[in-house]
Amino acid sequence: MKKLALHWKILLGMAMGILVAILLIQFPFGKLFALNWIKPFGNIFINALKVIAVPLILASLIKGVTDLKDISKLSKMGFKTIGLYLITTVIAVSIGLVMVNILQPGDFLEQSTKQELLKNFESEAQSKIEMAESQKSQSPLKAIEDIVPSNIVKAASDNGNMLQVIFFAILMGIGLILIPQEKAKPLIDFFDSLNELILKIIDLIMKVAPFGVFALMTALVVESPSVDLFKALGIYALTVILGLAVIMLFYFFLVYVFTKKTPKFFINGMLPAQLLAFSTSSSAATLPVTMERVEEHLGVDEEVASFVLPIGATVNMDGTSLYQAVAAVFIAQAFGMELSLYTQLGIIATATLASIGSAAVPGAGMVMLVIVLAQAGIPEAGLALIFAIDRPLDMFRTTINVTGDAVVAMIIAKSEGLLHEPKKES
Ligand code: ASP
Repeated sequence: MKKLALHWKILLGMAMGILVAILLIQFPFGKLFALNWIKPFGNIFINALKVIAVPLILASLIKGVTDLKDISKLSKMGFKTIGLYLITTVIAVSIGLVMVNILQPGDFLEQSTKQELLKNFESEAQSKIEMAESQKSQSPLKAIEDIVPSNIVKAASDNGNMLQVIFFAILMGIGLILIPQEKAKPLIDFFDSLNELILKIIDLIMKVAPFGVFALMTALVVESPSVDLFKALGIYALTVILGLAVIMLFYFFLVYVFTKKTPKFFINGMLPAQLLAFSTSSSAATLPVTMERVEEHLGVDEEVASFVLPIGATVNMDGTSLYQAVAAVFIAQAFGMELSLYTQLGIIATATLASIGSAAVPGAGMVMLVIVLAQAGIPEAGLALIFAIDRPLDMFRTTINVTGDAVVAMIIAKSEGLLHEPKKES
């Protein structure tokens, strides 16, 4: 019998997870059972993915930079990467703004539902606002200052500090290019072999991915708020999801125009990473798998993937930026505010920056949304309106975030002559 492709197994795991959850909530003990006996396996799976993220970034980036053998090549690729990330993010926010202005989801929210949501989620919204407050009161250059770690062990000990690890890895790579070759070789060989080892570990972890997503989905469904709330926020959710779907089409278009690869090829290569992003809501946890898929299944050379993807996971969040634009305007509409064109243009700028500043973990986009709201003069308490449905939307936007990184990696690889036929079939 032909072996089932990985993405089918993962999809099956997700479907089973939802089914089991629906079954379990029919029983009084069901929720507790799922949380005590199924959810921990989901956490174990996410931890296993996270534990290899830092070593993977170090090993692959150092190897990637030293493979370039020349600093000017590195800076050229750096500029292209950041440029493409910015352009795609601005396009994403703009798509979001167009969608939310056409569909006007805020007008569909009934007055009574609005009051209920504001009351029920007031304290949750407040805690997000406080988290954002501490980031807002810092100097504008703080974000850049934060990229340079003062202690690499400390930076590597915190998965939220990926940019610091990236900075250190690039610095080491540059140093290794500059010192005499015979001195550099042992270290380069070391990272090369570490890189190989980590790719193998990812392979092993992916073997249990269907079980991991099963557990994650079960926990998610038993913990989700009532279906009625989802209905009330349905048009808003639909606006976000439609916007994300438009971005996906835009990605297919970009991939086809720049690399001549079909959507089928792209999806076949990326689907396991996309499903994982969907189930974990974390670009950082998905990064190891994104790298493996992009290199082995989309044919992007390691030199490009190891440089473009870790940076993308932390700074390029097209899905998050679109969501922030839609959410901000939705809240304004719900409060009966008219936003001028000038304010909406401001949202393009702040949502782009806020998505760059969002950490690659679940719910981070919502914290940074506070900054977009504040800038546009929209009441921050409005966060309570969208709280109930944030997690499902996080799943969709994280999938787009991860996909956007892969698209940029392919385009850059093509432009550098580093896009090959993939090593593996999906
Ligand atoms: N969960 C998203 C990510 O990891 C960030 C967010 O929008 O909350 O990419």
